[in-house]
Amino acid sequence: MINVENYKRIIDELGDKVTLVAVSKTKPVEDILALYDLGQRDFGENYVQEITEKYEQLPKDIRWHFIGHLQSNKVKQIASFVQLIHGVDSLKLLGEIDKQAEKNKRTIDCLLQVYIAQEETKFGLDEEDLNVLMSQYADEPMTNARIIGLMGMASLTEDMGKVRKEFEYLKTLFDQLRTHDPIAIGSQLTILSMGMSSDYKIAMEEGSNMVRIGSLLFGERK
Ligand SMILES: *Cc1c(COP(=O)(O)O)cnc(C)c1O
Repeated sequence: MINVENYKRIIDELGDKVTLVAVSKTKPVEDILALYDLGQRDFGENYVQEITEKYEQLPKDIRWHFIGHLQSNKVKQIASFVQLIHGVDSLKLLGEIDKQAEKNKRTIDCLLQVYIAQEETKFGLDEEDLNVLMSQYADEPMTNARIIGLMGMASLTEDMGKVRKEFEYLKTLFDQLRTHDPIAIGSQLTILSMGMSSDYKIAMEEGSNMVRIGSLLFGERK
């Protein structure tokens, strides 16, 4: 069961500057179709097998976002259809995405995942890793894997001041990369993916232009 009221309210709140990725992981295709019928086209999934099965069953104009932790050896399974890979955190993974995108004669857009939370379980790059990866990417230009922005997840905490600081920090890194533009791709860095059900309003206030929302739309996951 989807929450139509929440969907309409969120679409309203986001306006036309912020993209909603509806996070449908663990939810049945019927729920995705119900949201699709209301006009939603961007959906996010965390697992390779699940996103592949859903892609096969659902309308082909859905834009599929891979938002989980992607292993290099699984890139080939999603390379033919994925719209945006949010969680890239190594040059090795980027290289594999480039290779598989080329095989499929397409470009795959990617976001670099930056570690902004305090929890140890969160994947991602720190500021230094990010700069290193950016300069490696510059030295080894990839024509089929295209970095178009950053993604981050704030700490899971009630302390919204802390969450806000983490988002603010990610926005600062994003702006730095765009303006100092060490590898002349600043103009292609357009997406800042941050904000989930519990914190998307704060994320928007701090400059997010893509939010990934699951439970508010589809209900709690088990
Ligand atoms: C599950 C997930 C979300 C959505 O979380 P909700 O709290 O249900 O909105 C967003 N981003 C990532 C990376 C996720 O894994």
